[in-house]
Amino acid sequence: METITNNLSSADLMQLEDKYGAHNYHPLAVVLSRGEGVYVWDVEGKQYFDFLSAYSAVNQGHCHPKIIKALTDQAQNLTLTSRAFYNDQLGPYEQYLTQYFGFDKVLPMNSGAEAVETAIKITRKWGYEQKGIPNGEAIIIVCGQNFHGRTTTIISFSSDPDAKGNFGPYTPGFVSVPYNDLEALQTALDTHGDNVAGLLVEPIQGEAGVFVPDEDFIPTAAKLCKDRNVLFIADEIQTGIARTGALLRICGDCSCGATCERQDTYTEPDVLILGKAISGGVYPVSAVLANNSIMQVIHPGQHGSTFGGNPLACAVAVAALEVVKDEKLAENARRLGNIFRARMNQLAQKTNLINLVRGKGLLNAIVINDSPESSTAWNLCVQLAENGLLAKPTHGNIIRFAPPLVMTETQLDSCCAIIEKTFLEFKK
Ligand SMILES: *Cc1c(COP(=O)(O)O)cnc(C)c1O
Repeated sequence: METITNNLSSADLMQLEDKYGAHNYHPLAVVLSRGEGVYVWDVEGKQYFDFLSAYSAVNQGHCHPKIIKALTDQAQNLTLTSRAFYNDQLGPYEQYLTQYFGFDKVLPMNSGAEAVETAIKITRKWGYEQKGIPNGEAIIIVCGQNFHGRTTTIISFSSDPDAKGNFGPYTPGFVSVPYNDLEALQTALDTHGDNVAGLLVEPIQGEAGVFVPDEDFIPTAAKLCKDRNVLFIADEIQTGIARTGALLRICGDCSCGATCERQDTYTEPDVLILGKAISGGVYPVSAVLANNSIMQVIHPGQHGSTFGGNPLACAVAVAALEVVKDEKLAENARRLGNIFRARMNQLAQKTNLINLVRGKGLLNAIVINDSPESSTAWNLCVQLAENGLLAKPTHGNIIRFAPPLVMTETQLDSCCAIIEKTFLEFKK
């Protein structure tokens, strides 16, 4: 397979990014030029297992033929109309998506952060117009160590000094409680009383290092909200679309895979936020889902996006969601996730490098037995890459393992062997 990079080496290409791009990321020293399924290749032709999946956007695997066909077919017909006119892809997509996830309506956007912003706006407006919160006083409760994106409002309620520092003044109206702390949540709900419009929460905190809360945290949090007429807003941008072994993490241990039968493990959110894998990593697509009683607060001119709901996005997202169902990715993620954690827990017995293995489905992390300031996790990732597997540390000493969900058990076996070898041969 020829590369299409005009014969520039990895070193040349990294230099270009370093010189001409803002330094807002610190990538691993690997330059990728091709992907297929669970594999990616660098410009020198070296093959890797992708264990990041673009932060769980590529759940369906790289360049899935069905999604790419939908993209290229639609690209020849119509790509963008703006919402000044109707287009023939949006209605069918909206019908498909709302039925797939069981909501009355969707508001289509592009990036995850935009969808979170949209959910915040809907929640505030609902708070004023439906709940009767005095103008300008709406509170949205969020959780410590959250990650909901990078806009000015969203970083206003981040607890990460890098995400937040020197980007103020910050948007008011948010109150943060520790994640997985029902007592703190109850206190905040009581303290702010009728002014609380919503609770915005990740069912598993992905960027925080795949922090899985206690089983009862999400269902009980949702119930506390329901009892007080507070909207429960689930950010499933990273946990959704089969990643954690169910269609959504709020499905709990339901395994229907898609078109939810609404098992009693399901925690119903008032507002559901999706992004990332809703397009299989092929195109930026995000969505906010809610029922009519909530979505009706939005009228023409009050929110939108030039690219939101464009025909290309709609065609891609329908194909990407069909793949999730057709290939039973939720079930596969659940089965392989159990195998992966068992293997890694065995590995933890053989090395003192591993503090903890945690996760759900194929969203997992290994907490490295060293301080967040150490370079151990980074150096392990460099060695993993050398051995043909790409993963990235987060918060210094945590390595996330999140391969595409189309992985086979045989492939997972090879991946575990690479991780085992890397950890057992690692010298600090
Ligand atoms: C990635 C992510 C976002 C932001 O999505 P972008 O597309 O990067 O803006 C928001 N919330 C969660 C939970 C995420 O993982």
